[in-house]
Amino acid sequence: MSKKHSTRYIFVTGGVVSSLGKGIASASLGTLLQSRGLKVTILKCDPYINVDPGTLSPFQHGEVYVTDDGSETDLDLGHYERFLNISMSQKNNTTTGQIYYEVITRERKGDYLGKTVQVIPHITDEIKRRIRDVSKNEPQYDVVITEIGGTVGDIESLPFLEAIRQFRLDVGKENVLNVHLTLIPFIKASGELKTKPTQHSVMRLREIGIQPDILLCRTEQELPNEMKSKIALFCNVPSESVIPAKDVESIYEVPLTLHEEKLDNQVVEKLNLDENPPKLKEWKKFVEKFKNPKHIINIAICGKYIDLHDSYKSIIESFVHAGVENDAKVELKWIASEDLEKEGAKAFLADVSGLLIPGGFGERGIEGKINAVHYARTHKIPFFGICLGLQCAVIEFSRNVCQLTDANSMEFDPETKDPVIDLMEEQKRVKSKGGTMRLGASACQLRKNSHSHRIYGKELIMERHRHRYEVNNNYIEILERHGMIMSGINPDLDLVEMIEIPDHPFFVASQFHPELKSRVLNVHPLFRDFVKAALKFKSS
Ligand code: GLN
Repeated sequence: MSKKHSTRYIFVTGGVVSSLGKGIASASLGTLLQSRGLKVTILKCDPYINVDPGTLSPFQHGEVYVTDDGSETDLDLGHYERFLNISMSQKNNTTTGQIYYEVITRERKGDYLGKTVQVIPHITDEIKRRIRDVSKNEPQYDVVITEIGGTVGDIESLPFLEAIRQFRLDVGKENVLNVHLTLIPFIKASGELKTKPTQHSVMRLREIGIQPDILLCRTEQELPNEMKSKIALFCNVPSESVIPAKDVESIYEVPLTLHEEKLDNQVVEKLNLDENPPKLKEWKKFVEKFKNPKHIINIAICGKYIDLHDSYKSIIESFVHAGVENDAKVELKWIASEDLEKEGAKAFLADVSGLLIPGGFGERGIEGKINAVHYARTHKIPFFGICLGLQCAVIEFSRNVCQLTDANSMEFDPETKDPVIDLMEEQKRVKSKGGTMRLGASACQLRKNSHSHRIYGKELIMERHRHRYEVNNNYIEILERHGMIMSGINPDLDLVEMIEIPDHPFFVASQFHPELKSRVLNVHPLFRDFVKAALKFKSS
């Protein structure tokens, strides 16, 4: 709880280069403030014109993160949810596309009748409205962090920067803090750290009327005091507000190092918030366990987008959480499904203790995934399928156990005699691509005494979806007769949400995406038990 009960706003911008880790910096700052007992949320503003990332290729943009309310959002929201252990909504991610869409729709309705609609004030007003909108909550947020995507100097992010400049005047400067994340490069040839790019980046910000209050300086090397003083002098900030963010081994260390560098102290002081000491015991314990694993296991991920690991961001992080929970380091072995298709499953899977088939779209590499499932099923290697992974498991089982040799998904073979995976009824009417899949959280009833039920420890669960195809209910009887169990069913829509094979050490798959609900301090049970099964497989 803050001394003065008005919401404080922190804006995080980035300078010099992209990919500095603004998402992790924002999530870490949020974690630190939350650990001091403050109620925090985070908003990501993306300067691109797509309405949301749902239609972007995973190769371009990485994972599409889906929230409970079914919004397709930026993968940074995954970091926010995992770090802060909260659930976000559509309001937590806004794009230039959404903002223009809204303003143009209003213009067509006649809301601005007589006026010329302009970037300032109409677009900037809409940006500010969205920042205020995310703040509306019961109980009230103490702090709203807004991360501005892109790099200062980009044309696209200018309206956002102008909006945050104005915002300071709207809510009072005592309620606003600008944090600028920048890079201090190390030039190996001369053995020097260079401050000039940071000076220029801050200059760009000041030209448009934004003076950063805190500089977070990414560096490979220790930042000496005289360097801090130099940055402070040129960038017009106090020396103690130049905060080094030295490279660390894992993202989970970032909140701890930023705390050591007194970032949260600076923030609570400048924003006049309560100075309860942060409670970081659990977080420290997590990092300690992460850095000192007792076991190492190899788990294979066989997918189509493996050249860009960001496409599987939440899965990677879920394995970190599950590893820590099991005192193990999970080494991920990335397998391109097309390579497996060519060279056979044994070449890739003979040395792994588990196989995960993640979500995906389109036919390319699909037979490789089906072969991989076959190998895991027949060699009793723990198997975990997610979304497309479940669909592959059903196709494999139908072909090789139920003898439906032509079985396939309508997505890959619309002519198949046995469409064991079919387009969902509601999807048959859908024409446009954006935001039209089955999206967001829905209920799933687990079968009593199934493996899935034991894993969750309860019968009714809520999980998040992003798909168009589903198990064809006409084939449930034959699948069950041959030993595959439909262990989770959506009670309202009568859709298969989970399957398992009881006669196997671990063969579980879900139509939903459990990776979207694993948290640093609250691991998802499916990942936890999959890793446990993989450890058992390794030691057997
Ligand atoms: N392509 C499949 C479908 O649309 C699976 C989607 C996914 O794995 N997210 O149903």
